[in-house]
Amino acid sequence: MLRIGLTGGIGSGKSTVEALFRELGVPVLDADQVARELVAPGSELFDRIREHFGESILAPDGELDRARLRRRVFANPGERRWLEALLHPEVRARMAAWAEAQLHPYVVLSIPLLFESGMQDLVDRILVVVCDPQTRIRRVCRRDGIPPEEVEAMLRSQWTDEKRRSLADDVIENQGDLEALRREVERLHRRYLTLAGAR
Ligand code: ATP
Repeated sequence: MLRIGLTGGIGSGKSTVEALFRELGVPVLDADQVARELVAPGSELFDRIREHFGESILAPDGELDRARLRRRVFANPGERRWLEALLHPEVRARMAAWAEAQLHPYVVLSIPLLFESGMQDLVDRILVVVCDPQTRIRRVCRRDGIPPEEVEAMLRSQWTDEKRRSLADDVIENQGDLEALRREVERLHRRYLTLAGAR
């Protein structure tokens, strides 16, 4: 079993790449999805976060307002560390157990902050999606309807593509159209099947 860690900066195209691997029948697990499930109302982590941040962190439907939480910890490194110390060990454990249980020759673990959160050891190979900042800002603004400054601030808080690239085993350039992206994913799919077969 080969574990591929998929990562990249905000708006680089990770979710789109995930969807393309899924279309090829590859099991994919997204760390954000795992985190979302972990903080669902009624869970132990939900209670701890509510206690820590107060009721103002809840959305009207009683779920965690994750966008507000993100903004709050973004502005406060101490709070960010507190939240990460709570979440990361659980996310890690769930991802490792899930990968272990899959039967496909290789799996994709999509971890947006793979490097920033030091999760490299969860995977055997690292696939980085890169794309120039201007294109990423334009795509995220269109997708989320938010102002460019907000995306720029997120971008600045993350690793640069150059730094990610230096630690990648494989790189997808996502400047082109969706067809070009699909071809790249298909190329990597063949490569990963070969690598998995040789193990
Ligand atoms: P985030 O870091 O915010 O979770 P992401 O890395 O998962 O983002 P996506 O959501 O996959 O990025 O892509 C960002 C936006 O750009 C989406 O609206 C997606 O449809 C679009 N997009 C991604 N790749 C391409 C492409 N090659 N051509 C055109 N649009 C694209």
